[in-house]
Amino acid sequence: MDEIYLNGSFLPKSKAQISIMDRGFLFGDGVYELIPVFNKKVFLLDQHLKRLKNSLNLIQMNEIQDLDNIINKLVEKNQKSTFFIYLHITRGAQDYRNHIYSKNLNPTILIMCEDYPQFSQDLIKKGFFATIQDDFRWMKSNIKSISLLGNVLLKNYAFDNGCYETLLFRNKRLTEGSTSNVFIVKNKNIYTPKLSNELLPGVTRDLLIRLLSKNGLSVIESDIHESDVINADEVWCSSSTNAVVPIVKVDDNIINNGKTGYTTMKVYEIAQEFITNF
Ligand code: PLP
Repeated sequence: MDEIYLNGSFLPKSKAQISIMDRGFLFGDGVYELIPVFNKKVFLLDQHLKRLKNSLNLIQMNEIQDLDNIINKLVEKNQKSTFFIYLHITRGAQDYRNHIYSKNLNPTILIMCEDYPQFSQDLIKKGFFATIQDDFRWMKSNIKSISLLGNVLLKNYAFDNGCYETLLFRNKRLTEGSTSNVFIVKNKNIYTPKLSNELLPGVTRDLLIRLLSKNGLSVIESDIHESDVINADEVWCSSSTNAVVPIVKVDDNIINNGKTGYTTMKVYEIAQEFITNF
């Protein structure tokens, strides 16, 4: 959809302008959220707004009021029923370029509707490939920062190598994917890295843990090493764009004979059902 929200106005994307002095443009000084809309319903809005509040707090910015109303207006205006809300908040424009920010800036608030590819069930059943890299990003990956250069380079590394995702390791421990959280299955146990400053607290990660628990399957939050991943029975990635993405090959290591595993498909189906009935 062409209509967006920028700093108090709804206007066509092509008419939207921001200052070259915006700190988001100059410094990547801001945070964002990506929120799915399924069948006109904003998915887990409270959880996304809670994480946004936390990200703002961690970069010393104030909470922004009324975002839910603006989001709902954009959803009403959109002809489509399934898409994503991209919400981008920067510290605002400052008269001069200085690392030190003025305390009284007006934040820049951009909210727009975006389409992202939702994988068909056939593609999901086939599974995807992943590759491994050192997690060279900064130590505050729990903030959903718009400074995404590290993630951009790492996601493109996956793409250039024919993979869906790059799985990241810091000090030999799995943190997350470049755009997703990661789960593995070994001997029927499900593991995911525990939350810390080294990974984003994914809204989907949290949802899957809760849905699995309701279905009698607990997730163990623990350290995961490279050997655990390449010897795993199953691996999947989770994110708001595609809740469960099975991984059947990690670099040259075939997972589960190259087939999507039982638990992965089960959690995929449970998540799909939850989304359908939301
Ligand atoms: N980790 C990173 C680095 C991400 O970029 C994302 C999603 O964009 C996630 C994890 C998954 O988060 P969520 O499930 O909230 O989309």
